[in-house]
Amino acid sequence: MANEKRYAQANNESLHRIFTIPEAPDSTLSQIESEISKNLNGFLSHHIVATDKPLSEIEQDFASSELPERPEYVSDHTRQLLEKLIAQSVHTSAPSFIGHMTSALPYFLLPLSKLMVGLNQNLVKIETSKAFTPMERQVLGMMHRLVYANNDDFYQDWMHSADSSLGAFCSGGTVANITALWVARNSLLVAKPGFKGVSEEGLFKGLKAYGYDDLAILVSERGHYSLKKAANLLGLGHDSIIAIPTDAEHRMDCKLLREKCAELEAKNIKVMAIVGIAGTTETGTLDPLNDMADIAAEYNAHFHVDAAWGGATLFSNKYRYLLSGIERADSVTIDAHKQMYVPMGAGLVLFKNPEAVAAIEHHAEYILRKGSKDLGSHTLEGSRPGMAMLLYASLHIISRPGFELLINQSIEKAKYFASLITAHEDFQLVSEPKLCLLTYRYVPKHVQELLQSCTLQQRRNINELLDQLTITMQKLQREAGKSFVSRTRIPEQGQGTDAISVFRVVLANPLTTEDILQQVLVEQEAIATEQTPLLAQLQSIIDA
Ligand SMILES: *Cc1c(COP(=O)(O)O)cnc(C)c1O
Repeated sequence: MANEKRYAQANNESLHRIFTIPEAPDSTLSQIESEISKNLNGFLSHHIVATDKPLSEIEQDFASSELPERPEYVSDHTRQLLEKLIAQSVHTSAPSFIGHMTSALPYFLLPLSKLMVGLNQNLVKIETSKAFTPMERQVLGMMHRLVYANNDDFYQDWMHSADSSLGAFCSGGTVANITALWVARNSLLVAKPGFKGVSEEGLFKGLKAYGYDDLAILVSERGHYSLKKAANLLGLGHDSIIAIPTDAEHRMDCKLLREKCAELEAKNIKVMAIVGIAGTTETGTLDPLNDMADIAAEYNAHFHVDAAWGGATLFSNKYRYLLSGIERADSVTIDAHKQMYVPMGAGLVLFKNPEAVAAIEHHAEYILRKGSKDLGSHTLEGSRPGMAMLLYASLHIISRPGFELLINQSIEKAKYFASLITAHEDFQLVSEPKLCLLTYRYVPKHVQELLQSCTLQQRRNINELLDQLTITMQKLQREAGKSFVSRTRIPEQGQGTDAISVFRVVLANPLTTEDILQQVLVEQEAIATEQTPLLAQLQSIIDA
């Protein structure tokens, strides 16, 4: 392209134009709009460059910190966006990209998102959202019912009640988890004679008032890092998150959990919350929620379930038993932007007791007056978009049985992929899929045999080489741009070794076919067999 840039004029007339006049039908932007409404996937496949470009090179396109002094024409700028930004973004909805928790979106959400942006409602208060407030409360009611299944009277009484809320809609699982633990902290260190409550007097005085030396949050070692952020923000610090080891299936070891609770109590450290994970980010496994609920009740601790990713499984009558016990949780996090196929920025936390949010209520004179139904009085975020509308639409257009189909298909696809891995003699399934997430690695057959009988030291040496192989393979596969799996590190259960690197696959995209999954393994095998130096080193351990 020519370096000569054209510029518009910054004047009142041109500014008025951009607020009032749509782009011409043949303009670049209008063409894009028409293309993405006809075939989004085609558009993305065409414009996103598949092969990897080093980030350092991409950074050169975003190097200047100068504020633009001269306005660009919309079409010119849009072309720039296509070339520099969109081209170098990630095709998360490609059916062969099976490493992400967010994937393809249903079509109807595109125009509806545009409408939502155009309406620009602010859910912080009724004044700026009107019908959006009862709509969001209804969405919270439906999601509450999905988890807790109370009767009609309950929802009649609470859904639109001014002094309560069945939950809080927010930008995602992180804010949802923070909100849940915020409620837990404030409910624990609640006001009493001589103490105005932790929200007034702070943590230090709260601990003194209740005679605790410290507070603790117990979660399995597979807990999401957002819990650490929560502990940090709530004044507890990362050390107060106590990671309990998991069993051979990556689930919370409840025997160790109970022992830890007793140990903390003996040290005058109050167990503020126990967090169960319903679908861990790394292995997709589910904690034994019923046993954890028992222990939480025993120690009078807030029981939170982080079902950010796995919560949507509750739509499936076939598989919802996997989350049995979730209905005993005081609070539950669910991300609509993961397995509910809503665009990013849609998370929620639900409270068993609709009055629990009183613990974090905030009022201000000009907005969020006491007794108002403003949603902002119990959300961490202030101004907030009408994302609930997209979830509302999905709940109605896809419906419960539709979501059940999506969930069941994903789980069954993961089982199919696991069977491919198991049947292949040079791949090793590391964690079985309970939901649609699994981990595996490439381990040549003879190495697998040796791993059955080798010493701990040999095992460590082998794992070190296998880690290098996994990391190299994942990188090369990503760079080739045809397909993508993600990578993580998890402990090799029951082996006493350090964590190992594994491929991590999430089979949430409804467009991923069995054929694509076969191809992924074929491609990986081809990449693996080219890694001659690493394979030779592995062979030398076998020969020794
Ligand atoms: C994704 C996830 C989160 C964080 O949610 P965000 O929407 O990324 O903020 C928390 N916990 C679990 C288990 C998750 O999978």
